[in-house]
Amino acid sequence: MRLGIISALAEEQHGLIEAMESSYKRFHGMREYTAGKLWEIDAVCVLSRIGKVAAAMTAAILVEKFEVTHIIFTGVAGSGDKNVHVGDIVVAEDLIQHDFDASPLFPRFEIPLTGLTRFASDRALTERLAAAAEKTGRVHRGLIASGDQFIGKRQQIVALKEAIPDILAVEMEGAAVAQVCFELGIPFAVIRTISDNANDDAAVDFMRFVKTVASRYAYDIIENFCKAKA
Ligand code: SAH
Repeated sequence: MRLGIISALAEEQHGLIEAMESSYKRFHGMREYTAGKLWEIDAVCVLSRIGKVAAAMTAAILVEKFEVTHIIFTGVAGSGDKNVHVGDIVVAEDLIQHDFDASPLFPRFEIPLTGLTRFASDRALTERLAAAAEKTGRVHRGLIASGDQFIGKRQQIVALKEAIPDILAVEMEGAAVAQVCFELGIPFAVIRTISDNANDDAAVDFMRFVKTVASRYAYDIIENFCKAKA
């Protein structure tokens, strides 16, 4: 396994690059890729920056230029369900692009020419990641929705839930990585710690949480993941 680890923001990958052994850096397309060993696993860490295009570009480069065989996205997200609380962890089983709408040519949310509205994460990788996360916090598994919007108003999340009732978390990158990995045949998984409730308080909660707690979560989860037997 050569594992690509993507996060949008530096806080979401805090400490991982420092934990790498025999690492080296390469710049490409405005991003810094750090390759090395993470607890015996051959890994490449990178910050994608924010949004679906940024994440898609980063995932494709990881595969095509850095030859990763598996990808994990680790970051924070807004809650999309009343049972999912700030500090909980959501591991994606499926991902949807909630802002994709080519109707009436294709059904709403369907990605043209794939026939799919949802992309499933790799089962084995997701199992291993969820098992690693159980040591850190309360884990939910299900649907993560991505779009090029910070969901920070109550009406936005209410409208989204009306359209897609089973959403557990909302963020801005996961489903883009999912589509790229689907198209390139690369197993992937997405894990998100909940930073806010995607409501009117989201921006303030997000800023506070991302600095204090989120950074520790990713490190602990990835360490447990790498140390677990495949
Ligand atoms: N103001 C921030 C912007 C971060 S955007 C900054 O200065 O960096 C929010 C990031 O966290 C995105 O990468 C997204 O994936 C995730 N996220 C957390 N809460 C979210 C929410 N409520 N809606 C959408 N994305 C959210």
